[in-house]
Amino acid sequence: MFEIVDAVVIGGGIIGMSTLYHLTKKGMRNPVLLEMDNLGGGSTRYTAGWVMLQLGTELEMQWSKISYAEFMFLREEYKINFEQKGSLIINTHDFIESEKALFSLQTSLGIPTELLSPEQVRKLAPFIKLREIGSGRYCGLDGVIDAQAAIQQYKMLAELSGAKVYEQSRVLGITVSSDKITSVKTSDKTFYTPIVVNAAGFYADQVARLVGLELPIKLDLRHSVFTEPIESIYDEMPLLQVVNPIELYIGSHGKRADYTIGSFAIESYEQKPQLDWIVDRYYEYLVDCVPEIARARITRVEAGIRVFSVDGKPIIGPVEGIEGYFNNCAWGGTGVMHAPFAGQAIVDAILGEQKFTQDIEPLLFDRFKPNFVFKGNYP
Ligand SMILES: Cc1cc2nc3c(=O)[nH]c(=O)nc-3n(C[C@H](O)[C@H](O)[C@H](O)COP(=O)(O)OP(=O)(O)OC[C@H]3O[C@@H](n4cnc5c(N)ncnc54)[C@H](O)[C@@H]3O)c2cc1C
Repeated sequence: MFEIVDAVVIGGGIIGMSTLYHLTKKGMRNPVLLEMDNLGGGSTRYTAGWVMLQLGTELEMQWSKISYAEFMFLREEYKINFEQKGSLIINTHDFIESEKALFSLQTSLGIPTELLSPEQVRKLAPFIKLREIGSGRYCGLDGVIDAQAAIQQYKMLAELSGAKVYEQSRVLGITVSSDKITSVKTSDKTFYTPIVVNAAGFYADQVARLVGLELPIKLDLRHSVFTEPIESIYDEMPLLQVVNPIELYIGSHGKRADYTIGSFAIESYEQKPQLDWIVDRYYEYLVDCVPEIARARITRVEAGIRVFSVDGKPIIGPVEGIEGYFNNCAWGGTGVMHAPFAGQAIVDAILGEQKFTQDIEPLLFDRFKPNFVFKGNYP
């Protein structure tokens, strides 16, 4: 069996689905997406879904701004759940100057931000006993998106424009002939295509090997811990990010807390929680920083894989020497909040456009080649 298609997107997580949607949005009528399992069953299944305008570097904030606009569109037009709780980034005294600089940067980028005093932070998050609170950066626009609903909405919109989505369809082979992509194979079908997008999440290196590439990525297991109700947790609580000395994200559902913590290098592809790892490495810190949460009964623990490149930036765009092959992977801990940008940017690259999305040169696979020289000028 075979099909002739305009493009094949490999992987039905949030990045692949955004890519498919943007291909059709830009007029492609016959792309397909192949997912080996069920849509949204990879890393996206375990995401906390936080969307933060005020996270990361200037470049990442620009990606967040682009993405935020699309999430607002999905919310307004298609009622995708986006719970706007605001976010508060809490840092220690030692970082007060860099926090002030980030506050100015965010303000200059048009991201509404307030710099809160330690007293204001303690009022919003009374359970944080960190002695060294220096400041809090607050952005009222941030919130939590329902990533599974976004995936289904992207699917519906893409299919309405002619795209097809095949689940239970694992890509087993990619044919490159005269340095050009020609086809993609599953166990029962060949898709003849000039374009392939690798959005295979934590299997992206396996897919890349099908065209002879070694992606420099590493896998990291991150846990989400859900607790019983806690006296000082409240439903309208902003999303809290404690940055130092370790990164801890705390959200709330009613009076229950859920926090994501930990970074454990792993080699397997198993998204299996390892509570004893958390206890061994972080319990002391948790008791010190958030004693009420640390001592609360745990009702559920999950673990999901985050994929990082060796320099921490995503790997997206074309690869020299393999015409028609594009990466869109290694989105680390921000693949949901940046998914709309990831889709727009890769489609611009595929169609040879650079209209409104950012320069993706710093994100190309070719940056890992020893003699690669950047042509652009970027932060
Ligand atoms: C605990 C945790 C909390 C997180 N919290 C946040 C957060 O708050 N905000 C945020 O922005 N990000 C967060 N992230 C990160 C975010 O979840 C990921 O960056 C994002 O989900 C990655 O999406 P993806 O589409 O690249 O990968 P995936 O969701 O893994 O999708 C890849 C898909 O490719 C498929 N696939 C692989 N190989 C093949 C093949 N050969 N053929 C066909 N299909 C294939 C897989 O089955 C999978 O469905 C969190 C991650 C974790 C683990």
